[in-house]
Amino acid sequence: MLVHRELLNASMTYRAQRSVIENRALQYELGRRTSARRGVITIPVVVHVVSNRNHPEQDISEEQIRSQFTVLNQDFRAANPDVDKVPDVWKPLVADTRIEFRLATQDPNGDPTDGIVRVVTDRTGFDHRHGVKSSATGGSDPWPSDQYLNMWVCQLTGGLLGYAAFPGQPPHLDGVVILHSAFGTTGTADFPGNPFNGGRTATHEIGHWLNLFHVWGDDDGACTSDDKVVDTPNQADANTGMPRFPRITCNNGPNGDMFVNYMDYTDDAGMFMFTKGQLARMNACLEGPRASFLAAAAMPALAQEATVGSAAGAEAAEKFVSDGDVERLLHDSERLTVEVLNDIRAVLDTVAGRPRGREARGGVRR
Ligand SMILES: [Zn+2]
Repeated sequence: MLVHRELLNASMTYRAQRSVIENRALQYELGRRTSARRGVITIPVVVHVVSNRNHPEQDISEEQIRSQFTVLNQDFRAANPDVDKVPDVWKPLVADTRIEFRLATQDPNGDPTDGIVRVVTDRTGFDHRHGVKSSATGGSDPWPSDQYLNMWVCQLTGGLLGYAAFPGQPPHLDGVVILHSAFGTTGTADFPGNPFNGGRTATHEIGHWLNLFHVWGDDDGACTSDDKVVDTPNQADANTGMPRFPRITCNNGPNGDMFVNYMDYTDDAGMFMFTKGQLARMNACLEGPRASFLAAAAMPALAQEATVGSAAGAEAAEKFVSDGDVERLLHDSERLTVEVLNDIRAVLDTVAGRPRGREARGGVRR
């Protein structure tokens, strides 16, 4: 009950933050605001490797960590070797997001670092309730989330591959968490039959961190909700494994579901692209709630907006909302309520130990 109450209380604030962020994303998606971002932004990342003291293999190698960055910097630049596998009809939609990632070279005190924090824990595994994000619960404390993308790598329970914080969550929970054997392409991720050995779990979770929803709209197989991206087809539910093109749901023929998108649930070997519409949402995020990263990258055109913080961004976003958007925003609120209910249900499911979703096939990507 305590967890339940805490979640509700936390979600009230979160919901308010999310409305502001979604208002802004909507303006970018509809083309009423365009990104001022030029060039490539590089996000400094701190990787917290949290390993159980009886399982030293969880203390993954630097090589494995670097293999993950190789994948990220290919996937986010549309430079992945498998991008040619995108069906022809969607090739024009493939986006080079001009976002790259590198291990931090300076710690929060300004001292040199390799960007890797190693913590040994007595915990045998972590669930999605953020325990890995605090030393008080056997994890590793985050670095300032307005300067670093915090990435925790650990043993996860319940078949969970990873989970992420959308922008708007409290700073101490911000970042992404990835199962060590779904992180990078070598070391503990490299074993026969692992469908998640391509580093795409981190690509997917960072998509959420940059405010992307799942392509199917998280509506449990209905066709009523989408991902708020104009160029991704409405699709019924998550796709898993390696679907064959075309896969038609929600009357979305002839091309069907965009299951090759990083924000679906297919195997790592079956996802190849972000779209230009998804990039619009990422830009709204980078020029809104995560604008501190642009400021730090010393991009003069945006530094001023970034330094005044998200309150001013919120004000600006509100100004851009016309009456015609009210209905959509109400819809968003309903959707967020559904998400909160889903969160509660997930917690209750975890408590009750009931299997859900992809656990049956050995992987759950949040
Ligand atoms: Zn997800």
